[in-house]
Amino acid sequence: MKRINLLDEQTCNKIAAGEVIERPFSVVKELMENSIDAEAKNISVYIEEGGQKSIKILDDGIGIHPDDIERAFLPHATSKIKEAEDIFKINTLGFRGEALASIASVSQTIMKSKREGFDYGKEICIEGGIKTYIKDIGFNTGTSIEVNNLFYNVPARQKFLKSSSRESALISDIVSRLALVNTNIAFKLESNGRKIINTFGNGNMKDVIRAIFGKEVVDNIWYFEGHSDIASVYGYVGNEAISRKSRNKQSIFVNKRYIKSSLITAAVENAFKSFLTVNKFPFFLLFLDVYPEFIDVNVHPTKSEIKFSDDRHIFKLVFNSVHKAISENLRGTFFINE
Ligand code: ADP
Ligand code: MG
Repeated sequence: MKRINLLDEQTCNKIAAGEVIERPFSVVKELMENSIDAEAKNISVYIEEGGQKSIKILDDGIGIHPDDIERAFLPHATSKIKEAEDIFKINTLGFRGEALASIASVSQTIMKSKREGFDYGKEICIEGGIKTYIKDIGFNTGTSIEVNNLFYNVPARQKFLKSSSRESALISDIVSRLALVNTNIAFKLESNGRKIINTFGNGNMKDVIRAIFGKEVVDNIWYFEGHSDIASVYGYVGNEAISRKSRNKQSIFVNKRYIKSSLITAAVENAFKSFLTVNKFPFFLLFLDVYPEFIDVNVHPTKSEIKFSDDRHIFKLVFNSVHKAISENLRGTFFINE
């Protein structure tokens, strides 16, 4: 019979990294969410070879205190919550304190950061979870983080990565989504030196939609909204002209978090049922704001799914709001036989 071992910290981090950091896209998502939580106004993302060779993210947020930068890479190190109850009134995207520790354990990571009000910043380099150096630097307020050779020490994981064009497409999707829900932040994405996304951060939703999806989409969407005692929903649905054979032009944001929800997708699609050609999926952008005590965001390590305390309530609110907007906009057109 084998005896029981206690795993060392590096092994634990490497295993935990498998949950949060599945692929280059997850690195970009986690790091951009950190920049958003740091109240950045400009976030630039540079990737090479679909992020497998290098991912660099630069922000002008509040930066990290020089005495905290090393600690930020420890597992469960977070400035965003203090105790478990805080999760139920959370207003940041992060709170698990896992991303930096995970990323740095499976890559060669260099972070530079300067906190607002300090006249020097810090640069730290971590390779495969081991610090190689830390030093003082001159730097603008904000943070830059460079993640090189992701999974260089986890060959098994490398094998599961898709082609670099597929990884780039996933990254472009997540940058788009975060841009759509943060219209006050200017986002930039460059892949192998080529500009892919550029938004202006002027707070205008239609400008962002145009920058991401193009003019045709802006010309074919309708606004909808609806309210109840625990939630508000609003957004845009697209007409038949921009419906697609796949669901990849659908986005759901709950309390500014981009999530997947079969419940909400079904509510929107049901509202569309009699109006769309079968086998086509409607374009929609849906923003749901719910009092935090009616949702649980901690059901999945990547926080890509959430739980509602009252599914039926949310379904009805979404269905009714979308249905109303569609019927009003289509009244009198050839879609409805009244
Ligand atoms: P979490 O986001 O769940 O707190 P992370 O591992 O992603 O955990 O980050 C750890 C901590 O490092 C954060 O709580 C934050 O204090 C700090 N941090 C990370 N990235 C940035 C950034 N871009 N700007 C400012 N602080 C950051
Ligand atoms: Mg984080």
